Amino acid sequence: MKVRYNENAEIVKTVKEGLKRRGGYCPCRTGTSEDIKCMCKEFRDQIADPNFEGYCHCMLYYKEK
Ligand code: SF4
Repeated sequence: MKVRYNENAEIVKTVKEGLKRRGGYCPCRTGTSEDIKCMCKEFRDQIADPNFEGYCHCMLYYKEK
């Protein structure tokens, strides 16, 4: 299992800027729940799922099996 950044540097840059603007909360969502603080609960659950492979919701990270 490995978690890495998206191979597209442009996407990484845009999402990181969004995270900065949102004070660490997911830029692809609204609100300020603890569950959407990066890394959000959804992606942490996906990391914990041995069958999941793919990008996080914002496509900042990619989880390899
Ligand atoms: S892990 Fe991805 S989807 Fe989750 S908050 Fe961070 S950038 Fe958004």
